[in-house]
Amino acid sequence: ARVDNPYAGAKVYVNPLWSANAAAEPGGSRISNQPTAVWLDRIAAIKGVAGGMGLEAHLNRAVSQGAQTIQLVIYNLPGRDCSALASNGELGQTDLPRYKSEYIDPIAAILAKPAYANLRIVNIVEIDSLPNLVTNVSPRPTAVPNCDTMKANGNYVKGVGYALAKLGAVPNAYNYVDAGHHGWIGWDDNFNASAKQIAEAAKAEGSTLANVHGFIANTANYGATTEPFFKIGDTANDGPIREKAKWIDWNRYVDEQSFAQAFRTEAQKEGFSPDVGMLIDTSRNGWGGAARPTAAGPKTTSDTYVNGGRTDRRIHLGNWCNQKGAGLGARPQAAPAPGIDAYVWVKPPGESDGASKVIENDEGKGFDRMCDPTYTGNPRNGNNMSGALPDAPLSGHWFPAQFQELMRNAYPAL
Ligand code: BGC
Repeated sequence: ARVDNPYAGAKVYVNPLWSANAAAEPGGSRISNQPTAVWLDRIAAIKGVAGGMGLEAHLNRAVSQGAQTIQLVIYNLPGRDCSALASNGELGQTDLPRYKSEYIDPIAAILAKPAYANLRIVNIVEIDSLPNLVTNVSPRPTAVPNCDTMKANGNYVKGVGYALAKLGAVPNAYNYVDAGHHGWIGWDDNFNASAKQIAEAAKAEGSTLANVHGFIANTANYGATTEPFFKIGDTANDGPIREKAKWIDWNRYVDEQSFAQAFRTEAQKEGFSPDVGMLIDTSRNGWGGAARPTAAGPKTTSDTYVNGGRTDRRIHLGNWCNQKGAGLGARPQAAPAPGIDAYVWVKPPGESDGASKVIENDEGKGFDRMCDPTYTGNPRNGNNMSGALPDAPLSGHWFPAQFQELMRNAYPAL
């Protein structure tokens, strides 16, 4: 039988590969014992890439570490990452049969082995997929042709449904579906539509809503867990900040925790279990260091108030690649707030979001200009500068300069 919160009272698996990368950096041993997720980001990752550990090796090590909980990221949909290029994957838009038989089926078979029956296996299911079918499709100004295609061919919906059904059949597996983040799904026209889209997928391919244990917010993103110096209902001298502050721009939320808690309620309205829990990826949303505000901004205008007080120092909320100035966020912890099962480090700190220039590779990864510090943007970030760090390697590859900055700007500080 599943427990309500797979993180409660649990020692969570420390990925030895990430841990070794972290420990090898100056100062890295301060965090190298933290649990991070294992990303199954291609078929070969199941057996292990380049002599690295495969899924069974990780599960065996989890058992020998005496961990109760291990976190896996299921991330290999056909036509992956339709609104961007940095994490395009190995499967083409019509490769649903391969996704099922060469990726999900073998993973499910391994998870079901008796040797792992006492582990609580958390599956983070297909980040950056379903919300794209809501926000980045025609006729919206943010539409991307690849997302139109993935919506029309149904392969995101079918792939997620299939993954949930197969992985959900493992009695000790806990599926958490990606719910984007407040700077994406927090607007009214995206919020309910995303909950509905996820519900549709969770009922596809023989799955039921019961295969969903919860949802995750902010995976691999940079939204602050809480903004301490303003609330969505605040008013400055020019009026309500929700309407007047450019940073907020009518979003219903100003941070990840308020978004996550509200999304949980919205999902319950769509028929998901009253027991669903939320995760928040806090690996890189700390925004500490010298640039962190220590008090609210002046109420002269909504912009001075919000820009003076916000801890999230991004140029625009839509920026997502290797953000300059970011720091490690809250260390992983169970049950930090009502409705939140855990703060987790799903994106392993120090692993790049994408290359800042073209790098040839055999992983299917493209070059997304949102990772280029000289890029002036597109409709999805309000045509702003990308805010990305320079000289970044391919997504998923080790990026020492980013790792050092994340430690320097950690909040709480290391
Ligand atoms: C990449 C994956 C990688 C993951 C974790 C993603 O952006 O596409 O290949 O495993 O980040 O770093």
